[in-house]
Amino acid sequence: MTGAVLAERTEMVDGAPSALAALRRGEPVVLTHARERHLVIAAERVTGRTMALLVRYSSGFACVAIEGERLAALDIPLMEADDAGREAFAVSVDAGAGLTTGISALERARTVRALAHPSTTPADLVRPGHVVPVQVRPGGVLERPAPPEAAADLCRLAGLVPAAVFAAIPESVSEPLPTALADLTTVRVEDVVRHRERAEPLVHPAAVAPLATRRGLLTQHTYVDVRGGTEHLAVVAGAVADADAVPVRVHDECLAGDLLGSVRCRCAGDLAAALDAVATAGNGVVVYVRGGAACGGQPTGVAVPADRDRVAAHVLRDLGVRSVVLLTDDHGHAGRLSAFGMPVVACAPLTPAGQCDLRAGAVE
Ligand SMILES: [Zn+2]
Repeated sequence: MTGAVLAERTEMVDGAPSALAALRRGEPVVLTHARERHLVIAAERVTGRTMALLVRYSSGFACVAIEGERLAALDIPLMEADDAGREAFAVSVDAGAGLTTGISALERARTVRALAHPSTTPADLVRPGHVVPVQVRPGGVLERPAPPEAAADLCRLAGLVPAAVFAAIPESVSEPLPTALADLTTVRVEDVVRHRERAEPLVHPAAVAPLATRRGLLTQHTYVDVRGGTEHLAVVAGAVADADAVPVRVHDECLAGDLLGSVRCRCAGDLAAALDAVATAGNGVVVYVRGGAACGGQPTGVAVPADRDRVAAHVLRDLGVRSVVLLTDDHGHAGRLSAFGMPVVACAPLTPAGQCDLRAGAVE
Protein backbone atom coordinates (compact mmCIF):
# COMPACT_ATOMS: atom_id res chain seq x y z
CA MET A 1 0.00 0.00 0.00
CA THR A 2 1.49 3.35 -0.96
CA GLY A 3 1.51 6.49 1.14
CA ALA A 4 -0.88 8.15 -1.30
CA VAL A 5 -3.45 5.37 -0.95
CA LEU A 6 -3.20 5.49 2.84
CA ALA A 7 -3.71 9.24 2.87
CA GLU A 8 -6.72 8.97 0.59
CA ARG A 9 -8.33 6.37 2.84
CA THR A 10 -7.95 8.50 5.93
CA GLU A 11 -9.47 11.54 4.26
CA MET A 12 -12.76 9.84 3.44
CA VAL A 13 -15.75 11.46 5.08
CA ASP A 14 -16.62 10.18 8.55
CA GLY A 15 -20.25 9.10 8.27
CA ALA A 16 -20.78 8.51 11.99
CA PRO A 17 -22.13 11.93 13.12
CA SER A 18 -24.81 12.15 10.42
CA ALA A 19 -25.73 8.48 10.95
CA LEU A 20 -26.29 9.12 14.66
CA ALA A 21 -28.63 12.01 13.84
CA ALA A 22 -30.55 9.89 11.30
CA LEU A 23 -30.98 7.02 13.77
CA ARG A 24 -32.31 9.43 16.40
CA ARG A 25 -34.90 10.60 13.85
CA GLY A 26 -35.92 6.97 13.29
CA GLU A 27 -34.58 6.93 9.73
CA PRO A 28 -32.87 3.91 8.18
CA VAL A 29 -29.14 4.24 7.43
CA VAL A 30 -26.99 2.23 5.02
CA LEU A 31 -24.14 0.49 6.87
CA THR A 32 -21.29 -0.71 4.66
CA HIS A 33 -18.55 -3.21 5.42
CA ALA A 34 -16.23 -4.08 2.52
CA ARG A 35 -18.72 -5.21 -0.16
CA GLU A 36 -21.59 -5.84 2.24
CA ARG A 37 -24.37 -3.30 2.71
CA HIS A 38 -27.06 -3.42 5.38
CA LEU A 39 -30.09 -1.30 6.14
CA VAL A 40 -30.15 -0.38 9.84
CA ILE A 41 -32.87 1.24 11.97
CA ALA A 42 -32.75 1.97 15.70
CA ALA A 43 -34.92 -0.73 17.31
CA GLU A 44 -36.81 1.63 19.61
CA ARG A 45 -37.66 3.97 16.69
CA VAL A 46 -38.74 1.49 14.00
CA THR A 47 -42.25 1.89 12.54
CA GLY A 48 -44.38 -0.15 10.15
CA ARG A 49 -43.36 2.24 7.36
CA THR A 50 -39.59 2.04 7.91
CA MET A 51 -39.77 -1.73 8.50
CA ALA A 52 -41.63 -2.10 5.18
CA LEU A 53 -38.83 -0.17 3.46
CA LEU A 54 -36.20 -2.37 5.11
CA VAL A 55 -38.01 -5.54 4.01
CA ARG A 56 -38.66 -4.22 0.50
CA TYR A 57 -35.01 -3.38 -0.28
CA SER A 58 -33.23 -6.14 1.64
CA SER A 59 -33.11 -9.90 1.68
CA GLY A 60 -36.16 -9.60 3.97
CA PHE A 61 -34.32 -11.50 6.70
CA ALA A 62 -34.66 -8.99 9.55
CA CYS A 63 -32.30 -9.43 12.49
CA VAL A 64 -31.93 -7.38 15.65
CA ALA A 65 -28.43 -6.64 16.93
CA ILE A 66 -28.73 -6.73 20.71
CA GLU A 67 -26.55 -7.14 23.80
CA GLY A 68 -26.15 -10.51 25.53
CA GLU A 69 -27.29 -9.07 28.85
CA ARG A 70 -30.59 -8.01 27.30
CA LEU A 71 -31.11 -11.42 25.65
CA ALA A 72 -30.53 -13.11 29.01
CA ALA A 73 -33.03 -10.77 30.71
CA LEU A 74 -35.63 -11.66 28.04
CA ASP A 75 -34.80 -15.36 28.37
CA ILE A 76 -33.90 -15.71 24.68
CA PRO A 77 -31.24 -18.42 24.19
CA LEU A 78 -28.65 -18.53 21.42
CA MET A 79 -29.21 -21.07 18.63
CA GLU A 80 -25.73 -22.52 19.17
CA ALA A 81 -22.68 -22.02 21.35
CA ASP A 82 -21.22 -18.53 21.15
CA ASP A 83 -18.31 -18.26 18.72
CA ALA A 84 -16.53 -14.89 18.62
CA GLY A 85 -15.78 -15.29 14.90
CA ARG A 86 -19.37 -15.68 13.71
CA GLU A 87 -22.73 -14.00 14.11
CA ALA A 88 -24.43 -15.32 17.25
CA PHE A 89 -28.04 -15.95 16.19
CA ALA A 90 -30.59 -16.38 18.94
CA VAL A 91 -33.98 -18.08 18.87
CA SER A 92 -36.47 -16.06 16.78
CA VAL A 93 -39.30 -14.22 18.55
CA ASP A 94 -42.60 -12.38 18.03
CA ALA A 95 -44.23 -9.89 20.37
CA GLY A 96 -47.04 -12.05 21.75
CA ALA A 97 -49.89 -9.67 22.45
CA GLY A 98 -52.19 -8.69 19.60
CA LEU A 99 -50.20 -10.13 16.70
CA THR A 100 -51.82 -12.28 14.01
CA THR A 101 -48.99 -14.06 12.20
CA GLY A 102 -46.15 -11.75 13.24
CA ILE A 103 -44.75 -11.60 9.72
CA SER A 104 -46.17 -8.29 8.43
CA ALA A 105 -43.91 -5.24 8.51
CA LEU A 106 -46.17 -3.61 11.09
CA GLU A 107 -46.03 -6.67 13.35
CA ARG A 108 -42.30 -7.16 12.95
CA ALA A 109 -41.78 -3.49 13.83
CA ARG A 110 -43.81 -4.06 16.99
CA THR A 111 -41.67 -7.08 17.88
CA VAL A 112 -38.45 -5.12 17.31
CA ARG A 113 -39.66 -2.27 19.52
CA ALA A 114 -40.64 -4.80 22.19
CA LEU A 115 -37.08 -6.17 22.21
CA ALA A 116 -35.81 -2.65 22.91
CA HIS A 117 -38.48 -1.56 25.38
CA PRO A 118 -37.28 -1.75 29.00
CA SER A 119 -40.65 -2.95 30.34
CA THR A 120 -40.80 -6.04 28.07
CA THR A 121 -40.61 -9.33 29.98
CA PRO A 122 -39.92 -12.89 28.74
CA ALA A 123 -43.67 -13.64 28.93
CA ASP A 124 -44.37 -10.90 26.36
CA LEU A 125 -42.51 -12.84 23.64
CA VAL A 126 -43.48 -15.91 21.63
CA ARG A 127 -40.76 -18.32 20.41
CA PRO A 128 -40.17 -19.07 17.57
CA GLY A 129 -41.22 -15.95 15.66
CA HIS A 130 -40.31 -13.76 12.70
CA VAL A 131 -37.55 -11.57 14.12
CA VAL A 132 -34.09 -13.03 14.76
CA PRO A 133 -31.99 -11.47 17.54
CA VAL A 134 -28.21 -11.50 17.01
CA GLN A 135 -26.06 -11.18 20.10
CA VAL A 136 -23.28 -8.61 19.75
CA ARG A 137 -19.86 -8.89 21.42
CA PRO A 138 -19.61 -7.00 24.74
CA GLY A 139 -16.82 -4.79 23.36
CA GLY A 140 -18.85 -3.87 20.26
CA VAL A 141 -16.91 -2.89 17.12
CA LEU A 142 -13.70 -2.59 19.12
CA GLU A 143 -13.96 -6.32 19.82
CA ARG A 144 -15.52 -7.39 16.52
CA PRO A 145 -15.65 -4.83 13.68
CA ALA A 146 -18.74 -6.25 11.99
CA PRO A 147 -22.20 -4.95 11.00
CA PRO A 148 -24.22 -6.18 14.05
CA GLU A 149 -21.73 -4.68 16.50
CA ALA A 150 -21.60 -1.43 14.51
CA ALA A 151 -25.41 -1.22 14.37
CA ALA A 152 -25.81 -1.65 18.15
CA ASP A 153 -22.87 0.69 18.87
CA LEU A 154 -24.37 3.41 16.65
CA CYS A 155 -27.63 3.28 18.62
CA ARG A 156 -25.78 3.49 21.94
CA LEU A 157 -23.65 6.38 20.65
CA ALA A 158 -26.88 8.10 19.54
CA GLY A 159 -28.14 7.92 23.13
CA LEU A 160 -30.69 5.23 22.24
CA VAL A 161 -31.22 1.68 23.51
CA PRO A 162 -28.28 -0.31 22.03
CA ALA A 163 -30.41 -2.45 19.73
CA ALA A 164 -30.93 -2.12 15.98
CA VAL A 165 -32.88 -3.98 13.34
CA PHE A 166 -30.74 -4.72 10.29
CA ALA A 167 -30.97 -6.64 7.03
CA ALA A 168 -28.59 -7.17 4.12
CA ILE A 169 -29.12 -5.34 0.84
CA PRO A 170 -28.66 -8.02 -1.86
CA GLU A 171 -25.76 -7.61 -4.29
CA SER A 172 -28.34 -7.52 -7.10
CA VAL A 173 -29.40 -4.06 -5.85
CA SER A 174 -26.60 -2.21 -7.60
CA GLU A 175 -25.40 1.38 -7.75
CA PRO A 176 -26.97 3.81 -8.20
CA LEU A 177 -29.25 2.78 -5.35
CA PRO A 178 -33.04 2.98 -5.81
CA THR A 179 -34.46 6.43 -5.03
CA ALA A 180 -35.84 5.26 -1.70
CA LEU A 181 -32.32 4.36 -0.53
CA ALA A 182 -30.24 6.95 -2.39
CA ASP A 183 -30.98 9.75 0.09
CA LEU A 184 -30.19 7.68 3.18
CA THR A 185 -27.08 8.38 5.23
CA THR A 186 -24.26 5.93 4.59
CA VAL A 187 -21.82 4.96 7.33
CA ARG A 188 -18.95 2.46 7.30
CA VAL A 189 -18.20 0.00 10.09
CA GLU A 190 -14.73 1.59 10.04
CA ASP A 191 -16.29 5.00 10.84
CA VAL A 192 -17.89 3.54 13.95
CA VAL A 193 -14.55 2.06 15.06
CA ARG A 194 -12.83 5.43 14.59
CA HIS A 195 -15.59 7.32 16.31
CA ARG A 196 -15.25 5.11 19.38
CA GLU A 197 -11.44 5.16 19.32
CA ARG A 198 -11.55 8.96 19.46
CA ALA A 199 -14.26 9.13 22.10
CA GLU A 200 -12.83 6.52 24.47
CA PRO A 201 -9.16 7.12 25.39
CA LEU A 202 -7.16 3.95 26.02
CA VAL A 203 -4.31 5.71 27.83
CA HIS A 204 -4.06 8.57 30.28
CA PRO A 205 -1.04 10.89 30.32
CA ALA A 206 0.77 10.45 33.66
CA ALA A 207 4.07 12.34 33.51
CA VAL A 208 6.32 14.41 31.26
CA ALA A 209 10.05 14.77 31.95
CA PRO A 210 13.11 16.01 30.07
CA LEU A 211 15.41 13.15 29.11
CA ALA A 212 19.07 14.09 28.65
CA THR A 213 20.65 11.42 26.45
CA ARG A 214 23.86 10.89 24.52
CA ARG A 215 21.74 11.74 21.49
CA GLY A 216 20.74 15.11 22.95
CA LEU A 217 17.78 16.40 24.90
CA LEU A 218 14.57 14.42 24.38
CA THR A 219 11.28 14.40 26.28
CA GLN A 220 9.83 11.35 27.97
CA HIS A 221 6.05 11.08 28.24
CA THR A 222 4.59 8.34 30.42
CA TYR A 223 1.09 6.97 29.76
CA VAL A 224 -1.01 4.63 31.89
CA ASP A 225 -3.09 2.00 30.09
CA VAL A 226 -6.69 2.17 31.39
CA ARG A 227 -6.99 -1.63 31.16
CA GLY A 228 -4.70 -2.52 34.02
CA GLY A 229 -2.17 0.20 34.60
CA THR A 230 0.64 -0.85 32.25
CA GLU A 231 2.91 2.14 31.65
CA HIS A 232 3.77 2.95 28.03
CA LEU A 233 6.36 5.54 27.01
CA ALA A 234 6.69 8.09 24.25
CA VAL A 235 10.16 9.49 23.65
CA VAL A 236 9.73 12.75 21.77
CA ALA A 237 12.23 14.83 19.80
CA GLY A 238 11.25 18.40 18.97
CA ALA A 239 7.70 19.76 18.84
CA VAL A 240 5.17 17.31 17.47
CA ALA A 241 1.83 18.78 18.63
CA ASP A 242 -0.39 19.84 15.71
CA ALA A 243 2.29 18.58 13.32
CA ASP A 244 1.77 16.52 10.17
CA ALA A 245 4.03 13.78 8.78
CA VAL A 246 5.83 13.30 12.11
CA PRO A 247 8.45 10.50 11.92
CA VAL A 248 7.25 7.75 14.26
CA ARG A 249 8.58 4.38 15.29
CA VAL A 250 6.45 2.01 17.37
CA HIS A 251 8.58 -0.32 19.47
CA ASP A 252 7.38 -3.39 21.35
CA GLU A 253 9.01 -3.83 24.72
CA CYS A 254 11.48 -6.71 24.59
CA LEU A 255 13.19 -7.29 27.89
CA ALA A 256 15.69 -9.80 26.51
CA GLY A 257 16.66 -7.66 23.54
CA ASP A 258 16.27 -4.11 24.87
CA LEU A 259 17.96 -4.64 28.23
CA LEU A 260 19.81 -7.93 28.36
CA GLY A 261 21.61 -7.94 25.02
CA SER A 262 19.91 -11.00 23.55
CA VAL A 263 21.16 -11.70 20.02
CA ARG A 264 18.07 -13.75 19.17
CA CYS A 265 16.17 -10.67 17.95
CA ARG A 266 16.84 -7.22 16.48
CA CYS A 267 14.91 -5.26 19.08
CA ALA A 268 17.85 -3.47 20.73
CA GLY A 269 19.32 -2.42 17.38
CA ASP A 270 15.96 -1.27 16.07
CA LEU A 271 15.28 0.77 19.21
CA ALA A 272 18.70 2.44 18.97
CA ALA A 273 18.17 3.15 15.26
CA ALA A 274 14.74 4.64 15.96
CA LEU A 275 16.09 6.94 18.69
CA ASP A 276 18.97 7.93 16.38
CA ALA A 277 16.50 8.71 13.60
CA VAL A 278 14.23 11.02 15.60
CA ALA A 279 17.09 12.66 17.54
CA THR A 280 19.03 13.37 14.35
CA ALA A 281 15.94 14.77 12.65
CA GLY A 282 15.14 16.81 15.77
CA ASN A 283 11.55 15.76 15.20
CA GLY A 284 9.70 12.54 15.87
CA VAL A 285 8.36 10.05 18.38
CA VAL A 286 9.40 6.59 19.50
CA VAL A 287 6.38 4.97 21.12
CA TYR A 288 7.53 2.25 23.51
CA VAL A 289 4.58 -0.11 24.04
CA ARG A 290 4.88 -2.39 27.02
CA GLY A 291 3.18 -5.57 28.11
CA GLY A 292 2.15 -6.81 24.68
CA ALA A 293 4.33 -8.63 22.20
CA ALA A 294 7.26 -10.70 23.35
CA CYS A 295 10.14 -12.12 21.38
CA GLY A 296 13.77 -13.15 21.60
CA GLY A 297 14.33 -14.58 25.04
CA GLN A 298 10.61 -15.12 25.63
CA PRO A 299 9.71 -17.64 22.93
CA THR A 300 6.29 -18.47 24.39
CA GLY A 301 5.10 -14.87 24.10
CA VAL A 302 2.26 -14.04 21.75
CA ALA A 303 2.50 -10.91 19.61
CA VAL A 304 -0.65 -8.82 19.48
CA PRO A 305 0.14 -6.25 16.78
CA ALA A 306 -3.42 -4.89 16.60
CA ASP A 307 -3.43 -4.01 20.29
CA ARG A 308 0.08 -2.56 20.04
CA ASP A 309 -1.08 -0.29 17.22
CA ARG A 310 -4.22 0.77 19.10
CA VAL A 311 -2.13 1.86 22.07
CA ALA A 312 0.29 3.70 19.77
CA ALA A 313 -2.55 5.53 18.00
CA HIS A 314 -3.98 6.70 21.32
CA VAL A 315 -0.57 7.86 22.59
CA LEU A 316 0.16 9.76 19.37
CA ARG A 317 -3.27 11.39 19.41
CA ASP A 318 -2.71 12.55 22.99
CA LEU A 319 0.61 14.09 21.91
CA GLY A 320 -1.35 16.08 19.33
CA VAL A 321 0.27 14.40 16.34
CA ARG A 322 -1.94 14.87 13.27
CA SER A 323 -0.35 12.37 10.88
CA VAL A 324 2.79 10.26 10.76
CA VAL A 325 5.53 8.95 8.53
CA LEU A 326 5.84 5.47 9.95
CA LEU A 327 9.35 4.06 10.23
CA THR A 328 8.57 0.52 9.13
CA ASP A 329 8.40 -1.70 6.09
CA ASP A 330 5.31 -3.45 7.47
CA HIS A 331 2.29 -2.06 5.62
CA GLY A 332 -0.11 -4.03 7.80
CA HIS A 333 1.25 -2.03 10.74
CA ALA A 334 0.61 1.23 8.84
CA GLY A 335 -2.90 0.17 7.88
CA ARG A 336 -3.81 -0.68 11.47
CA LEU A 337 -2.48 2.61 12.84
CA SER A 338 -4.61 4.44 10.26
CA ALA A 339 -7.65 2.31 11.09
CA PHE A 340 -7.24 3.23 14.76
CA GLY A 341 -7.43 6.88 13.82
CA MET A 342 -3.80 7.96 13.37
CA PRO A 343 -3.31 8.73 9.66
CA VAL A 344 -0.13 7.33 8.11
CA VAL A 345 0.89 9.48 5.15
CA ALA A 346 3.90 7.36 4.21
CA CYS A 347 6.17 4.55 5.35
CA ALA A 348 9.95 4.80 5.47
CA PRO A 349 12.41 2.03 6.27
CA LEU A 350 14.02 2.33 9.70
CA THR A 351 17.28 0.76 8.62
CA PRO A 352 18.30 -1.45 5.70
CA ALA A 353 18.10 -4.36 8.13
CA GLY A 354 14.36 -3.89 8.44
CA GLN A 355 12.28 -4.38 11.51
CA CYS A 356 12.21 -6.81 14.37
CA ASP A 357 11.26 -10.35 13.43
CA LEU A 358 8.76 -11.36 16.09
CA ARG A 359 8.98 -15.06 15.35
CA ALA A 360 10.30 -16.92 18.33
CA GLY A 361 13.95 -17.73 17.93
CA ALA A 362 14.59 -15.39 15.02
CA VAL A 363 18.34 -14.94 14.73
CA GLU A 364 20.17 -11.99 13.22
ZN1 LIG B 1 13.16 -8.78 20.84
